[in-house]
Amino acid sequence: MPQFKFCATYVMSALQDAFFVTSVKSLQQLPAHVGVEVAFAGRSNAGKSSAINTLTRQRRLAYVSKTPGRTQLINFFQIDERRFLIDLPGYGYAEVPLALKKEWQQLLVSYLAARTQLNGLVVIMDIRQAFSPLDMQLLEWFYPSGKPMHILLTKADKLSRGASLTVLGKAQNFLQTNFPGVSVQLFSSLKKQGIAEAETVLYRWLNLTLPQADSGRSSRK
Ligand code: GDP
Repeated sequence: MPQFKFCATYVMSALQDAFFVTSVKSLQQLPAHVGVEVAFAGRSNAGKSSAINTLTRQRRLAYVSKTPGRTQLINFFQIDERRFLIDLPGYGYAEVPLALKKEWQQLLVSYLAARTQLNGLVVIMDIRQAFSPLDMQLLEWFYPSGKPMHILLTKADKLSRGASLTVLGKAQNFLQTNFPGVSVQLFSSLKKQGIAEAETVLYRWLNLTLPQADSGRSSRK
């Protein structure tokens, strides 16, 4: 019965209530609220939209981020009136003119620098291209803010279990030495791998209580 294959990880999640609110191209357009935000950043094509869809149990939520003209915007999703998920513009589009790249990066950087509601940053990295120069720039620049960061090594299904664990181990050592406190995990939207672990982090940053079924399986970050 393949439809029950992922039952263990597909418990109810508050994140599944997320809905698209708006896309903005400047900080002034961001909705005002007194709640908390968790943002997602990553190189284009690293699997950010897929990860947002997987974590919210929705097929097309972050599809909006893929619509032409919206890839360079900040996409704003609401879980409830006090909790929000923020999809930041992907970086590293090879085919985009430098001037435009700078504009997008400016939006990303100004959001991360200025948004007081931001409680944590999820950085999405393709496990086969993790810690690229642009990823490193983001880590080095954002780390001093003192806000928590969690890295999803996505597309873990593209490597064997052994190879993915090797990358994870190296990443953990690297972070422990260079960016203490930044956490990292394996993730696969395709295989629904790493959901409970990622949720543990997101729930904490969003001040949510973990559903009973998840709390036993997730290691605390
Ligand atoms: P984004 O540009 O960072 O939002 O990336 P997308 O989520 O659109 O994913 C880029 C490509 O990678 C798409 O073709 C996805 O189907 C694929 N992809 C995303 N996540 C995974 C994953 O966990 N495993 C595999 N094998 N492919 C994935």
